[in-house]
Amino acid sequence: MSLIKCRKLGKRFGDTLVLQDIDLTVEAGEVVVLVGPSGSGKSTLLRCLSVLELPSTGELAIDGRRLGAPGVRRRDLRRQTGMVFQQFNLFPHMTARENVMLGPRKVKGLSRREARALADRLLDRVGLADRADHYPAELSGGQQQRVAIARALAVNPKVMLFDEPTSALDPELRGEVLKVMQDLADEGTTMVIVTHEMRFAEEAASRLLFMDEGRIVHDGPARALLRAPPSTRFQEFIGHVG
Ligand code: ADP
Ligand code: MG
Repeated sequence: MSLIKCRKLGKRFGDTLVLQDIDLTVEAGEVVVLVGPSGSGKSTLLRCLSVLELPSTGELAIDGRRLGAPGVRRRDLRRQTGMVFQQFNLFPHMTARENVMLGPRKVKGLSRREARALADRLLDRVGLADRADHYPAELSGGQQQRVAIARALAVNPKVMLFDEPTSALDPELRGEVLKVMQDLADEGTTMVIVTHEMRFAEEAASRLLFMDEGRIVHDGPARALLRAPPSTRFQEFIGHVG
């Protein structure tokens, strides 16, 4: 069954139509990279998929559960996705371990001990076993973002959503974050990633979506689209970011 299914999804803010006619299906294990000019609606689409925003029109189902269907609560859908933001959004007064423990404690009701063991396992997975007791301010941007990835993984989401996860990082710190994302992809994690890292897209993505003015304009195999851009608009776009 598809993990994400949108049909004719639309979103408006006041009079502005920010997303329109979004038809999108993501299968388990797919790595989908979403690109497009600034203001084209990428973040809004991710926020709709994570139900941080409610769509104005159309249908959204995560793992077969349709938003608005009887017995399906927004909160239940919210928990199916893990979100990683450009600004890592860690709690500054908590250590890396405590940041990762929070979700499992609150959402999954794990005991302190269980949550701690899970957090340590996840921090190890993102290469930060030796930083568990550090506060965000004591970590580099790349390390903070890896903690944020561990935190998102901690509630065992069906789909991981990334909104420009390397855009706030100095170029020399981007690789360590992309490496963690590549590892997740290799392990079969279902992901939707907004990024300008075209090389990563070409290597890690099974599919590429190009958005423009609130619509999905292209949707196809990443390599094929990048090697033979189907429109001048898309060609110009990758010329600018690539
Ligand atoms: P992208 O991530 O592709 O840069 P966004 O999804 O952030 O695009 O924004 C798409 C459009 O929606 C922009 O014109 C933006 O100004 C508008 N927008 C986004 N969020 C809001 C909001 N909360 N209220 C009003 N307009 C918004
Ligand atoms: Mg954005």
